[in-house]
Amino acid sequence: MKKHAIIPIFIPHRGCPNDCVFCNQKAITARQPDVTPSDVRDVIETYLPTLTGRGLETIEVAFFGGSFTGLPMDEQSAFLDVAAEYKRKGLIDKIHMSTRPDYIDTAILDNLRSYGADTIELGVQSFDDGVLAAAGRGHTASAVYEACSMIHSYGFELGIQLMIGLPGDSLEKCLYSARETVRMRPSIARLYPTIVLQDTALYDMAQAGLYHPLTTPEAVAITKEMYRILAGAGINIIRVGLKSTDLISGSGQDSDKTWGHTYHPAFRHLVEGEIAREDIEAQMQSLQADPHAAGFSVPVDDSRVADDLHVPGDRPAATKKRRITVSSNGVSFSNMIGNRACNRRYFESAYPDLSIRFTVDDSLPDMTFRVSEQ
Ligand code: SF4
Repeated sequence: MKKHAIIPIFIPHRGCPNDCVFCNQKAITARQPDVTPSDVRDVIETYLPTLTGRGLETIEVAFFGGSFTGLPMDEQSAFLDVAAEYKRKGLIDKIHMSTRPDYIDTAILDNLRSYGADTIELGVQSFDDGVLAAAGRGHTASAVYEACSMIHSYGFELGIQLMIGLPGDSLEKCLYSARETVRMRPSIARLYPTIVLQDTALYDMAQAGLYHPLTTPEAVAITKEMYRILAGAGINIIRVGLKSTDLISGSGQDSDKTWGHTYHPAFRHLVEGEIAREDIEAQMQSLQADPHAAGFSVPVDDSRVADDLHVPGDRPAATKKRRITVSSNGVSFSNMIGNRACNRRYFESAYPDLSIRFTVDDSLPDMTFRVSEQ
């Protein structure tokens, strides 16, 4: 069961001076009315009744959309004031916002602290200066290191968002970014494959053949390795891939307004399913390497088979399928089976000598898979 809930407040960044090639905030801002503190109150009041009584450990109000700390200080304060009121009353537990690494300084952090903010997520995207420059981010990785250090020194919880497949990016650069993220000790992370949205420079570049987005299998293959690095360091990966509700424009949800096939609605499932398949297969191969196993086909006594089948004994040795159980907890079961049961189909076809049963064992942690012989 979900233990944490986020009440998202989407605040497009009016007047953002930056020009990130993947960002459609300017187009969204032009189409949407300004969000006001009273809108923030309305959103919280709409969400709260749906969240109470569900045994949640934490409820957070989170300011997403643009770069919260890039707003004028009095606007930040007006929004924070509403959230802080709900926190004081004990109706929410945390205040959370996303921002840019170069929009962090002592004045900003002092103000956030005065309103009891808890979590600051940095849109880092990459630790590679070349990728940051090609994405038009307007800062280098040094701004990221500085911001992370300041956020830690104030005692805020740190989150880091990374993108996969920006112009000039590569597997090596993505893995480097994941390893640098671990060094920054965030407690939470998000991994976003680059989506080419309409009304962005990246869309124009793609149309002109100047940018070639990753295919979904390529994006999954890279994200999977980054996921392993982050999860292996104990970082809570709270998002992998955009949700359809993240693709909001002034005219409604617009997952159809992306270029090519850069958006996949079940991207996290694809990544976690792939990790599950690899982990399960590694265990199957070590079972196969077991000297007592003698491969997956177990020859059985010829005469007994002949007897069982009521056929004369003079026939080739028969085999009995070895029975294997693959288990996960209920939360990770769909990853074990794979998207549209692709893992189950894969194992049935790759290991025809096995009779494989997939079961739930809730004593296993999330994303832990166990292969055992019956
Ligand atoms: S991603 Fe953020 S900083 Fe970059 S243009 Fe969009 S709103 Fe501005």
